Amino acid sequence: MTDTMLLQNLRPFGAAATDLLIENGQIARIAPDQRAGEGVPVEDCQGAILLPGLVEAHTHLDKSLWGMGWREHQAGPSLRDKIDTERRLRREWDIDPHRQSTRQALLSLGHGSTAIRSHVDVDTETGLAGIAGVQRTRDELHDQIDIEIVAFPQSGLMSRPGTLDLLDAAMQAGADVVGGLDPCGIDADPKGQLDAIFALAETYGKPIDIHLHEAGELGAFSMEMILERTRAHGMQGQVTVSHAFCLGMPDRDRARALVADLAEARIHIATVATVSRPVPMVQDLRDAGVILCAGSDGIRDTWGPYGNGDMLARAMLLGLRNNLRADPDVEHALWCCSWGGATVMGLKDYGIEEGCKADLVLIEAETVTHAVVSHPPRKLVLKGGRVVARDGAALKAAP
Ligand SMILES: [Zn+2]
Repeated sequence: MTDTMLLQNLRPFGAAATDLLIENGQIARIAPDQRAGEGVPVEDCQGAILLPGLVEAHTHLDKSLWGMGWREHQAGPSLRDKIDTERRLRREWDIDPHRQSTRQALLSLGHGSTAIRSHVDVDTETGLAGIAGVQRTRDELHDQIDIEIVAFPQSGLMSRPGTLDLLDAAMQAGADVVGGLDPCGIDADPKGQLDAIFALAETYGKPIDIHLHEAGELGAFSMEMILERTRAHGMQGQVTVSHAFCLGMPDRDRARALVADLAEARIHIATVATVSRPVPMVQDLRDAGVILCAGSDGIRDTWGPYGNGDMLARAMLLGLRNNLRADPDVEHALWCCSWGGATVMGLKDYGIEEGCKADLVLIEAETVTHAVVSHPPRKLVLKGGRVVARDGAALKAAP
């Protein structure tokens, strides 16, 4: 059986060296000096650090240009211009959601991510083609990586008639999460959009993840409407706000009061640690007990030329953006890129204890903080106890 194996000489989260036995895809025993039973494969990890599979908690698998050759960035600075440029280039270039999502998922897997939450565009032009393409990738890679699909109204919901019906159809077709986008800034109809997506979430019994780029007081206003509806619908613990740039507003007291409300309503925050915008501060959220997860956002797409899907590098960016220097603080940045994302995605049996799923990554580094700042190629990645990537690359070839 390939999902049973013995990993020798590894250091869980940088602790003392030990051995780890995997049986039926689960961590069966962590103890030093274990002997392999007959026929059980053994891997010498040479003192590598063991972490749970990393979690890419916010990205857009359907529209990466990865593997399509270098494309000059064409979009202007505004959000609206990025949306319009993407709609145009989607017609001009062959950005196939199935092929591109497969490429990006395997790239992430090579970097040790074993779970991905992907927002996938739903609009009146692309319809459900993106959802169908990423669903196919999810099915084909089901034994390599967990992919969760957010039905995402990228071009607007209330401001683009017909999109709400498509979002409903996407949920019917099996999307996992209801998406939303700047209810004031893009739709100019916060009540309309938020009432619609909370109703969809209730109908299908699914969580919500809203992109909220709105800065300052406008974003705070939308956030208060999201808080109100989270409480009214009893959706505590099932709502994520992505970006939440308003929490980086200069009025720190106002931001912290909002964070306290988020904690009380158990609303999660997803961040990219954007360098060019104000962002929610790691320490504020941590002090208040708000779960923070992280993601790459778009990787080499029409929105921007950056990104490579490495969540250890993302943890480093999170540390840099938040001035985290002490080892326990950098370890927390890694926590956001692993346990934080797993909490937001509701992954079962996640972690590196006996009984957890053997979704694991091994890294050659002295300590966890050293792994974050140096993010060397991942030595080994396992999914459900099976080796799926080695030396920085997925074993399965990308299309
Ligand atoms: Zn995004």
